[in-house]
Amino acid sequence: MSEIECDVLIIGAGPAGLAASIWTSRRKLSTVVVEKAMPGGQMLLAHDIENYPGIERISGQELAERMKKHAEKFGAKIVYDMITRVYTEGDKKKAVGNTNTYTAKALIIATGGQHRPLKVPGEEELVGKGVAYCATCDAPFYKGKEVAVIGGGNSAVEDAIYLSKIASKTYIVHRREEFRAEPDRVEEMERLGVEKILGKSPEKFEKKEDGRIVVHFKEGGSLEVDGVFVSIGYIPASELFKETGIEFTETGHIKTDLQQRTNIPGIFAAGDVTGRLAQIATAVGDGAVAGMNAYKYIQKPYWG
Ligand code: NAP
Repeated sequence: MSEIECDVLIIGAGPAGLAASIWTSRRKLSTVVVEKAMPGGQMLLAHDIENYPGIERISGQELAERMKKHAEKFGAKIVYDMITRVYTEGDKKKAVGNTNTYTAKALIIATGGQHRPLKVPGEEELVGKGVAYCATCDAPFYKGKEVAVIGGGNSAVEDAIYLSKIASKTYIVHRREEFRAEPDRVEEMERLGVEKILGKSPEKFEKKEDGRIVVHFKEGGSLEVDGVFVSIGYIPASELFKETGIEFTETGHIKTDLQQRTNIPGIFAAGDVTGRLAQIATAVGDGAVAGMNAYKYIQKPYWG
């Protein structure tokens, strides 16, 4: 296990973490970004991004790669590690990973969140066997087959649009009569022939002998498909930070002020883990604010 010391430790290399690292490393602070998987976070799941100003259309993977290169250009180090403990020792912010330990003057939490499960019988057992949470990752398994997306937000509608181009038939199941998603995306989904099943919530999933999945609804009735994509939002990845004494909102997000400061001096949070609008542009904005304020916290410039 190696010991890594730096000015700023950033946990999470999604758009918030990578943006923060651009702001801190450009101001010559030694910056380490720890990521457990590939840099990019939820961006990696976005097929086409059309609302990031200045870039009319780009895949999430390409934007992630560009942000990573941009951060590295200014000297930020991206380290692959799984952090298991975060705590403070005096002014120092400490983290323990499976590979390294980290000591920093400031910490920026940019861990985002994980897919929210429906928590219905059959769901957990069938993950990877007909039930999935990531359309971009698992869609190729359903080429020419029938799929259902559960949810009514932007993610569910985006997933349905994506799947409709691969599957032979795509349904979207939403518990209300109207969608939370942006109207133009709903129109696009309708144009692509996605069949809407409204006012229905899954009660349980069942796998038949032929491998097909039956979605039973609480309101009665069922739907039989080859695959189900659950897309009902995210849970913030904030649990890890309890030991630091930072405050959380009722929904488990990390509480920050408009400067992205938590209640613990030198600990900042940015992006989806704070529970604000989950957009790449706003995550980047949060990351920039957190990065700049980490700089002010460490260097205490005369103008800060
Ligand atoms: P979301 O906006 O919170 O929507 C979650 C959806 O799942 C809602 O329609 C909700 O229904 C439904 N739902 C929640 N719990 C459920 C349950 N137990 N059973 C059945 N349905 C349930 O989450 P999201 O779509 O993942 O999006 C998260 C954030 O990312 C949002 O801010 C979204 O705008 C953003 N996003 C943006 C884009 C884009 O701009 N291109 C793409 C993806 C995501 P109700 O409506 O009835 O509550």
